[in-house]
Amino acid sequence: MHFAGSVVVPESVSDSLKYYRSNTAATRALLESAVVEGVPHFIFSSTAATYSTPVKVPVVETDPTVPINPYGMSKLMTEAMIRDVAAAHPINYCALRYFNVAGADPQGRSGQSTVGATHLIKIAVEAATGKRDAVSVFGTDFDTPDGTGVRDYIHVHDLAAAHVAALELLVAELTKSHTLNAGYNRGFSVNEVLDAVDRVTNLTIQRRHERRRAGDPAALVADNSAILATLPWRPQRDDLDTIVRDALAWERVLAERAR
Ligand code: UDP
Repeated sequence: MHFAGSVVVPESVSDSLKYYRSNTAATRALLESAVVEGVPHFIFSSTAATYSTPVKVPVVETDPTVPINPYGMSKLMTEAMIRDVAAAHPINYCALRYFNVAGADPQGRSGQSTVGATHLIKIAVEAATGKRDAVSVFGTDFDTPDGTGVRDYIHVHDLAAAHVAALELLVAELTKSHTLNAGYNRGFSVNEVLDAVDRVTNLTIQRRHERRRAGDPAALVADNSAILATLPWRPQRDDLDTIVRDALAWERVLAERAR
């Protein structure tokens, strides 16, 4: 299972070569080693950013992939490499196109610990624990119901379970490969996410309205019928408040450790 990579869309715009190195070139090297060593199955962390700005929401795996930022392109190029390698060698793969991964281990053993995090729910729970004084809302003029960006937030616990199910399938099928959206088929706006954080924390976190970030699409939501049909996988923690609650619990562990 190949998880390593760079994941910040605006950074990919300002430093695309970093993304083509860590997401594309490094995976090429890993694939070469996998072929040499006879690794039979490969699971790749791909992304919803491989699509173009979807003309329709939700987005299906067969929709056009025309990434609007280098992050998405760096991962799409890797998908192509894996496909070509699998066509020529005894290796099958599953590329999971992650939507917005959030939350933390429900048992509090692990979670996102990135210094200088940029992802919305992480930022919001950092604000809730006093690490930040406000949350920026990047763009209030998108073509979405409340003008803020809409995303499909998937709990990391469910995403992890999808990997296990995918590996079991690859082992059973041996030659067949899959590219699957990993999301819940429902979107929340930035404001709705921040409302959930306020609700869960019983706080009113300050919101600062700012301009759109480079490379951000208005809305990205997964059509998840393929993953539901392909894997024996059913979301367990898809409630937004649960995602926020688990992210917050982990943030409190980190705050406690930092004391
Ligand atoms: N966002 C925001 N404030 C932040 C971080 C993100 O308004 O501090 C918005 C961002 O513009 C996008 C959504 O939240 O509409 C999700 O962004 P994130 O960086 O979490 O993930 P991405 O969709 O870029 O992979």
